[in-house]
Amino acid sequence: MDLELSSADIEFRDSLREVFLGEIPADIRRRSALNQTTHDDIVTSQRILNRHGLAVPHWPTEWGGKDWTATQSHIYGSEMQRAGVPQPLAFNVSMVGPIIAEFGSQEQKEKFLPSTANLDIWWSQGFSEPEAGSDLASLKTTARRDGDHYVLNGQKTWTTLGQYGDWMFVLARTNPDAPRKQQGISFLLLDLTTPGIERRPIRLFDGSAEVNEFFFDDVVIPAENLVGEENKGWSYAKFLLGNERNSIAQVGTAQRIYADLAAAASETDTGVGTLADDPAFRGSMHSLKTRLLALEATQLRVTGASEHGQASPVSSLLKMEGTQTLQELTRLRMSAAGSDGAIVSAEGDLVADPAATASAAQYLNLRKLSIFGGSNEIQRGVIAKTILGL
Ligand SMILES: Cc1cc2nc3c(=O)[nH]c(=O)nc-3n(C[C@H](O)[C@H](O)[C@H](O)COP(=O)(O)OP(=O)(O)OC[C@H]3O[C@@H](n4cnc5c(N)ncnc54)[C@H](O)[C@@H]3O)c2cc1C
Repeated sequence: MDLELSSADIEFRDSLREVFLGEIPADIRRRSALNQTTHDDIVTSQRILNRHGLAVPHWPTEWGGKDWTATQSHIYGSEMQRAGVPQPLAFNVSMVGPIIAEFGSQEQKEKFLPSTANLDIWWSQGFSEPEAGSDLASLKTTARRDGDHYVLNGQKTWTTLGQYGDWMFVLARTNPDAPRKQQGISFLLLDLTTPGIERRPIRLFDGSAEVNEFFFDDVVIPAENLVGEENKGWSYAKFLLGNERNSIAQVGTAQRIYADLAAAASETDTGVGTLADDPAFRGSMHSLKTRLLALEATQLRVTGASEHGQASPVSSLLKMEGTQTLQELTRLRMSAAGSDGAIVSAEGDLVADPAATASAAQYLNLRKLSIFGGSNEIQRGVIAKTILGL
């Protein structure tokens, strides 16, 4: 399913494969492909990538970035996903890192960027609140300026992997009297060991607890941890969205699951042949293959056409179609696994093919894709307005 690449791009791709397949331990890639990556896997993998100059390629070059072409960036993202390499922590490399690099003070850059690239600091994203998700600008957490510090009060929710967080980048209201709710919001860096912070895990329906709530009670943040200008946090949050474009469609991940599914189907006995011979199943696979090709071609076009830091409205289309494709793939993978998808021993050990056993949890877990990062309903609204002009 490769799109045609120039010989230079093939050479580039092969040099990446040497690192992804040769340097990242196979057991880490296996767990990642089963959606069972651990904290240590993510840290180990990101540090290996960073050692090879491959953790933060889209950062400014002075902070470890690469001056790659759009095609090279696309190859990087999709090859990494295809190899099952845990992706560098998005909160670090796609979110707070680029914001500090663009808007932070020189002190903030020196203090945070190298350790953020190397995952010596694990960042969490403190944006969403119970009444402020899609309508993020309605957030109520306040940061009141008091001399040389801010005092933070309020609540954040759905904080992914916040149990590992060392620091959090927080959007908080610094001017409650601003005429528009998008104004008066600031972007602050919070050390999560500061007194006055309580974290509560949220248990999810796949059995994991990968998201959390955070409560802030008179938490003191030094004023030097304000990024950019006070009350300009909303512009920085919007800039953040522009950095997710390269791998937003998760084409490589989908291709890997597709290959796994095709292999599993050819081994699954239906009594009258294999699942791969079943006309209805084959129809679904062909349709997915076509969608994947279209997705990859569209992603390449968007990556090539977008300006630095500006989210192309087509990103909304990629996000929506990419997540729907992945969700459909994991649904089919679970149905191909049949009862093996539910087999665990009394001790909870995996007793069937690990990919089959993981399929139900993976199917359930990936329902989140159409909610976070802007729900698919919100993306449809963006497409209607900016692409279709409705
Ligand atoms: C697994 C997971 C991890 C997350 N991780 C983080 C994180 O690390 N940090 C963080 O800050 N946030 C995180 N989020 C929060 C995520 O960004 C929000 O859940 C998302 O923005 C939706 O907000 P909400 O949950 O408040 O739902 P709501 O905004 O209340 O939406 C409820 C429903 O209404 C629909 N809807 C809302 N507005 C519109 C509209 N204008 N037009 C059409 N339909 C609409 C939505 O699509 C949704 O179906 C995470 C969420 C999940 C599920």
